[in-house]
Amino acid sequence: MNDLKRIAVFTSGGDSPGMNAAIRAVVKTGLYYNLETFGIYRGYQGIVNDLISPLKKKDVLNILPLGGTILKSARCKEFMTPEGREKAYGNLKKHKIDALVAIGGDGTFTGAKVFMNEFDFPVIGLPGTIDNDLFGTDYTIGYDTAVNTVVSAVDKLRDTAYSHDMVFIVEVMGRDAGFIALRSGMASGAGKILIPETKTHIDELLERLQRRMSEEETSAIIMVAEGDDFGGAMEVKKIVNERFPNLSTRVTILGHIQRGGSPSAFDRVLASGLGYQAVKGLVEGISGVMVGSVNRQIEFVPFDKSIKHHDKINLELKSITEILAL
Ligand code: ATP
Repeated sequence: MNDLKRIAVFTSGGDSPGMNAAIRAVVKTGLYYNLETFGIYRGYQGIVNDLISPLKKKDVLNILPLGGTILKSARCKEFMTPEGREKAYGNLKKHKIDALVAIGGDGTFTGAKVFMNEFDFPVIGLPGTIDNDLFGTDYTIGYDTAVNTVVSAVDKLRDTAYSHDMVFIVEVMGRDAGFIALRSGMASGAGKILIPETKTHIDELLERLQRRMSEEETSAIIMVAEGDDFGGAMEVKKIVNERFPNLSTRVTILGHIQRGGSPSAFDRVLASGLGYQAVKGLVEGISGVMVGSVNRQIEFVPFDKSIKHHDKINLELKSITEILAL
């Protein structure tokens, strides 16, 4: 135990479903430990610009099922400069904040690490991103909801694909990581999944389409992560059209629909559990880490390790999906 009295929580980077559930858990766990909790609005921008105010129990009533983040989120260039961080530190001192809970993705944790190193200020992280691209947690907060959003959209597209013998090329979020494409592709029975982690051999996809057409099955779903090396759904459509000019091919880019919506039960449970563990961790003197869940065990992973490790992706799911789509 240490003499922690005041903590502050903020959300940063892209919003993700379950961020509100995590904020609620932080505030309520703070109450449990007799801490005063403050909310910082608009991520790092709010620390630099002093958008800091108390978060009471009433402020987090009924926010558990809400998508987005009541604290708003932002990307902040100023925090990337020493002057910006100096201002941020001054504001935290002004409000007598002893420690921070940062909810966000790899950029957020990179910023937290730099800040901690400069000012020796305790920060603990919660993985809040739909991308699932953080090492040290099986799932990030928002990923499950995003996957479910994609799956329900693809189910609708499949109806039309089948009825009209069409090929739908569905582009999902994932600039650097294919987690969303992989899991939603498997769950929606995609014929092919293209992700940044593997080199795309477009000939394989064309051969597969050729085979389907020879079997008189001309509907298909192709799932493409936006960061795939072939260049995204529009590029895939171009080459499919060139090779099969008579095939009716459509691109659907799901875009920001994947970031919003009420969190799934899974994300609510994950966010609540990790939010609780973050505050408990701070009370016990733990900082400089992201709180994750691995094999249902809580893990504290140093920020450095949580960032940019994509080796947890299970590529076997891609081959299984493609075998099942034969
Ligand atoms: P998402 O995964 O949804 O994109 P993220 O946390 O990775 O979320 P970013 O926009 O990359 O989102 O980062 C959030 C903020 O973290 C940035 O706007 C910036 O203020 C801060 N940040 C990122 N990198 C650094 C850095 N090297 N130094 C200081 N601050 C940083």
